[in-house]
Amino acid sequence: MELEFYGATRRVTGSCHILRAGGFTILLDCGLVQGSRETEALNREPFPFDSAGIDAVILSHGHIDHSGRLPLLVNRGFQGPIYTHYATIELCHVLLKDSASLAEHDAQYRRRHGEVDAEPLYTVEEAMRAVGQMKGLRYGQKQEVMPGITVQLQDAGHILGSAFVRVEVSEGEQVRTFVFSGDMGQYDSPILRDPEPVGQADVVIVESTYGDRLHKNFDQTVAEIGDIIQTACRECGNILIPAFAVGRSQEMLYLFGQHYQEWDMSKWEVFLDSPMAIEASSIYWSHEELWDQEASLFRSNLRRMPPVDNLHLTGRIEQSMAINGMEKGAIIIAGSGMCNGGRIIHHLKHNIERGDCHIIISGFMAEGTLGRELVQGNREVYLHGQPFRVEAQVHTIGGLSAHGDRNDLLRWLKSAEGKPSVMIVHGEESVKESFREFLKSELSMDALIPKPGDRLDLNTAGLHPAVADNSNNKHRQ
Ligand SMILES: [Zn+2]
Repeated sequence: MELEFYGATRRVTGSCHILRAGGFTILLDCGLVQGSRETEALNREPFPFDSAGIDAVILSHGHIDHSGRLPLLVNRGFQGPIYTHYATIELCHVLLKDSASLAEHDAQYRRRHGEVDAEPLYTVEEAMRAVGQMKGLRYGQKQEVMPGITVQLQDAGHILGSAFVRVEVSEGEQVRTFVFSGDMGQYDSPILRDPEPVGQADVVIVESTYGDRLHKNFDQTVAEIGDIIQTACRECGNILIPAFAVGRSQEMLYLFGQHYQEWDMSKWEVFLDSPMAIEASSIYWSHEELWDQEASLFRSNLRRMPPVDNLHLTGRIEQSMAINGMEKGAIIIAGSGMCNGGRIIHHLKHNIERGDCHIIISGFMAEGTLGRELVQGNREVYLHGQPFRVEAQVHTIGGLSAHGDRNDLLRWLKSAEGKPSVMIVHGEESVKESFREFLKSELSMDALIPKPGDRLDLNTAGLHPAVADNSNNKHRQ
C-alpha cells in the first residue's frame, strides 16, 4: 500500500495524489493547475496513470484546484465513482460548469484569432458527466470504496461541504489509517463549523497555503468593514467588493445581515452581481444542517437568509449594466475575486477614478492580477486595455481567509492521536519549509515535504523518491 504524491506538491494549485492498495488505484482530488497561461497549459498534459484504470476518486471539496481536472479524467476514460460530500456535488455543478464554459469561450476566442484547431480543455457536457459520476456522502459516514479501503469525510470548515479525508487501508493483517487534509478552514469563521479533530492516524498529509503566517484578528476585520461602510456612507460613494463566488460572497452577505442595524445597511442598495455567486448562495442557505451553532441560532429568528432587505440578485447582464448608473449608495459584490476578469472590471471602470469610491479587498490576490496591483497601491491600472487613474480608496482586510493560518493548522495537527507521520503539501516551497521548521519547534515533529512522484510506503511511513522509469508510468494517457 502506497501513496504517490503527484500534484500540489511543488505548487499551491492542482491537488492530486494517488493511492495504490490491494490492487486498486484511487485518486485523492483531481485539481486544475491555475496561474499564468503557460502554467495552465500543464492541465492538458497526460496524467501519469491510465485514466480508465482508476477505480475511484475521493474529492475533498468543490474548489477548482481540487476538482477541476475531473471532466478531463472522465473524458480520458475514467468511469468509476467520485466519492465526495453531498453539498460538494451541488457546488461542483456550479463550479465545473463555469470552468467548462470559460474554457469553451476561450477556445472560441482563440479560433476567431487564427488558432484554427483551438479546443477547450473540456466542454460543459463533459463537466456534467463528471458531476453525474459523483456519489454523495455525509460527514462521518463510513464508505467502503473498494474491498479493504474505507473512506470517511470529516468537516474541514473551509467551504460548504469541504472535508478532510480519513482513509483506512487493510491488507492482510495490516491496517493503516491516513488522513488527507484537503484545504483546512479557519477556526471560529462565520457560517461554517470548525475543523473536526484529526483523531487517530498513522500518517497525516496537510496543506500549508498559509503555513508561514497569521491572519488578522476576525473581530477587528469585521469592525474594519463596518468603519469602511460608514465612511463611504458619509462620503456618498459606492463600495466595490471583488469576491469569490463560493465562500467569500456568502460571508459578506452574512455579515451584512448580522450588522444590519449597526452599519445602517438600510441606507444602501446591495448587489450580488454574479450568476455563479447567486447559485452558490442558494446552495449555502439551503444547507443549514452544515452551519455552526451561531449561524443556526441567527437563522432561527429570521424569515429568510440572508436578512438583507435591500439585496438585489443581478444575474442577467442588463441588470448588472443598470448598476452603472448609480453614483452613490451601491455596495456591489462581483467576481472575479482577484479582479482578473468578470463583472467587477465594468464596475471598476465606472468607479475607480472617483475619490469617494471604496474598494474592499478581502481575499488573496495572486501575483500578476489586477487585484494585486490595487493592493500594492498602483496609481494607474489598465481595464480592458485602457488606462485608468486609481482615485478610489483601496482597503485590504485580512481576517476572512477560507484557509486556516499557521496557528489553525497547528491546532488541527495537535488534535491528532497516535503520533502520526506528517507530510506537508499544497504550498509554495518557502512556505512549506517555514511550516516544517515551525512544527519542529512547536511540536518537536519531523514533518516531510514530498516532491512530485515521491511515494509513501504506508506500512513503514517511509518516503521513497520518484523512480525515473516507473512501471506505473508505462500507460501514460
Ligand atoms: Zn479550497
